[in-house]
Amino acid sequence: MPQPDNTLVEIALVALIALILVVVGIVTNTGAIPVAVGLATYISWLFFQLYRFRNWIAHPKREPAPYRVGIWDPLTSETTEIRNRGKSRKKRLRNILGGFQESTHALPDATVVLDENWMVEWANSVASQLLGIGKNREQALGIHDYIDDLVFHAYIEGGDYTRPLQIPAPVDYSISLEIRVVPYGKGKHLIQARDITRLNQLENVRRDFVANASHELRTPLTVVHGYMETILDADDDDDLEQWKPILTQVYRQSTRLKGIVEDLLTLSRLETRDRSEGQEIVNIAQMIERIVDGADSVSGDPGHDISAEVTATLGLNANASEIESAFSNLVYNAVRYTPENGRINLHWWLSGDEPCFSVMDTGVGIEAHHIPRLTERFYRVDVGRSRDKGGTGLGLAIVKHVLIRHGARLKIDSEPGHGSTFTCIFPKDRAEIVPLDDFVEVDSAQSIIK
Ligand code: ADP
Repeated sequence: MPQPDNTLVEIALVALIALILVVVGIVTNTGAIPVAVGLATYISWLFFQLYRFRNWIAHPKREPAPYRVGIWDPLTSETTEIRNRGKSRKKRLRNILGGFQESTHALPDATVVLDENWMVEWANSVASQLLGIGKNREQALGIHDYIDDLVFHAYIEGGDYTRPLQIPAPVDYSISLEIRVVPYGKGKHLIQARDITRLNQLENVRRDFVANASHELRTPLTVVHGYMETILDADDDDDLEQWKPILTQVYRQSTRLKGIVEDLLTLSRLETRDRSEGQEIVNIAQMIERIVDGADSVSGDPGHDISAEVTATLGLNANASEIESAFSNLVYNAVRYTPENGRINLHWWLSGDEPCFSVMDTGVGIEAHHIPRLTERFYRVDVGRSRDKGGTGLGLAIVKHVLIRHGARLKIDSEPGHGSTFTCIFPKDRAEIVPLDDFVEVDSAQSIIK
């Protein structure tokens, strides 16, 4: 059976009583007095119930609920139900939050939640070990108060958080931290800090090992290589004739080994040297002229058609020897992987406002799936061909390192069987104007755009 609507029942009841009181007023000749008294009593009752309701809402445990009569019964029941629902939702949220906090406390990395003004809102327990952000913070402090490091401040202000930052831990400078900043919500940030001390130590061990091993190998190799050269040069010695093929092989292999050792040493120097070392205005046009001369002699006869197009006034703020090593690696690769009579073109120009150097060849080309891996150490498309041509497998790794150190990037376009173009794109702030006296002479092999 459907329940009668309490509000309607209440209205009907009040109307009935009012009617009775009107009749009483007429019968007893007291006019509107009974109705007025009745209404005043009813309003007082309503106020009394409202007063209880209000107190009960504010303090449900301490204060009694309104009397459950008329419309007050469903009103009280529904309020209790809403309150219970709120309670269970709160409990559920508390459980989720508790679980979240427990799991972030268990994380091996420091996690710090920051508000829109970089003030610390929450931090896990590792944050106190690595960043000194204690759990019981009396006053709200910003992340800058905990990590007082100029590099970190510049990183935060820079606003580019795509790459993590490495800094010493504020609590102990012997600990290396990798910091990641993750923006979220409306202007909020999350900071993660990871202890990478051991990783750095391992990297140093690897670097030192490669540098030391290459250094140790260099001297005996140079000696063997020198002796071989002397022996092979002694043409007049007939006794040597039968050994010549073997000695030539030894000579070739020692040349190859020498190349590898030299390249490994170059790489380890690039890894250890400070980036800001030896920066100067480099006259790239002159450098290209030298490289082309070198490439011409490597290429031999009939060789290749090597040409260059350079903007002679365009210089580069860079480390000259590093840039020369990178550019010549690209040019020698073009010579190595371009069949005789092929074309090789060097280009130095300003693309938009970015200085660019490219080496285009009409050589063997590279299949697309090899391209992303070419700058890995010892990665070769064709190991046999690379060895035959005197490659070490380290040339492009050197190029990549040099470019990274100059904030530049390498673009590789290639079509198998048709040729390749390697382009180095430098940041615009490295472009410089070459002083007039340093302009290069126009060479027959080169077209110089001044
Ligand atoms: P390598 O000493 O073997 O030339 P690099 O690191 O310089 O080593 O180059 C890696 C590989 O990339 C080479 O072995 C070769 O397969 C490929 N490569 C580099 N430059 C060219 C080019 N201009 N044309 C075709 N292949 C190239």
